[in-house]
Amino acid sequence: LTSRLPAVGTTIFTVMSALAAEVGAVNLGQGFPDFDCDPELVNAVTLAMQAGHNQYPPMPGVPALRQAMAAKMEALYGLRCDPNTEITVTAGATQAILTAILAVVHPGDEVIVLEPCYDSYVPNIELAGGKVVRVPLVPGSFRPDFDAIAAAITPRTRALMINSPHNPSGQVWSAEDMRRLEALLAPTDVLLISDEVYEHMVYDGQQHQSAARFPGLAARAFIISSFGKTYHVTGWKVGTVIAPAPLTAEFRKVHQFNVFTVNTPMQHALAAYMADPAPYLQLSDFYQRKRDLFREGLAQTRFRLLPGQGTYFQCVGIENLAVAERDLPEGEFCQWLTREIGVAAIPLSAFYGNGFDQKVVRFCFAKKDDTLKAALERLARL
Ligand code: PMP
Ligand code: GLN
Repeated sequence: LTSRLPAVGTTIFTVMSALAAEVGAVNLGQGFPDFDCDPELVNAVTLAMQAGHNQYPPMPGVPALRQAMAAKMEALYGLRCDPNTEITVTAGATQAILTAILAVVHPGDEVIVLEPCYDSYVPNIELAGGKVVRVPLVPGSFRPDFDAIAAAITPRTRALMINSPHNPSGQVWSAEDMRRLEALLAPTDVLLISDEVYEHMVYDGQQHQSAARFPGLAARAFIISSFGKTYHVTGWKVGTVIAPAPLTAEFRKVHQFNVFTVNTPMQHALAAYMADPAPYLQLSDFYQRKRDLFREGLAQTRFRLLPGQGTYFQCVGIENLAVAERDLPEGEFCQWLTREIGVAAIPLSAFYGNGFDQKVVRFCFAKKDDTLKAALERLARL
């Protein structure tokens, strides 16, 4: 059998979570909360099931959830979108991204990714037969390099993938960045796949600059969100994709033969829960407190803190640690850190096609304060 994805093994998140469980390490690797969601949300699922919402919903998703998303997009970002023709409920952002790529990328089309990037992007493009064009974010700052992006665009460029707030760096694009992107794409037919799953985790007074706010971007974009991140339910695997009607029509052609539709009771529960905007409006404050606690703790260690104003990830440099293992490749260092120090992390090299090693690892701080303190105590020994 010839593999469709010869370069791909098991994802680093699965590998590190399995290792953390095996050796009993504090798991700051894979991104997910170690605390539960609001019980009211769980209750809403029970109520939906008891009300008989247990059969297929409409293919694009439960209407009430699409209407709630449309209202939110207008209130937060000023985007008017039609829930019937422009919003589709997906099995998390992962399926939204793959389906969007399969829907628009023809064999041989070029798709630009900005490295480091989330691990599913490149294999997704390859499955569609597309050609991956890698443009680095500026080393160190992880800021977009618009000259490099402009230079990478050719007549064969079908799409550009962006992700702000950014996994793994936590970097957040400014309004000026989005305006520059809008101007850069204006004379082109390049589509935009905007992965905004961390939209409600932005710190230090910054604001999330959704592609939805910029008409020239929204008109060519698949805007992707994930309830898993926003409501502390990563295991539910429910997200949405918002795109202009012609793009949504193509998306749904693939979606209907991919998953057809997404579990019904969770969609009803999410629709009911969205009536109150407080949970997502307060999420940045909730996580900024955890981030500050974690950063203050790390500042007392030899880890070097990297900048970042969003997501639930904190990257650190390991070059100043007082242990010889700091010189190991990042991946081996993370294995050692998990086994010997009892804290799991993700090597940044996992987000690069060529395994670029810059002696930086990523921690997830979506954890109980006690979990973060236990990890910090161990990290302080290095
Ligand atoms: N994009 C990014 C940048 C992510 O970090 C994640 C979560 N790992 C996803 C997409 C996938 O989100 P979901 O769990 O909703 O599929
Ligand atoms: N997005 C999560 C992360 O970056 C992991 C999701 C997954 O395991 N695929 O850690």
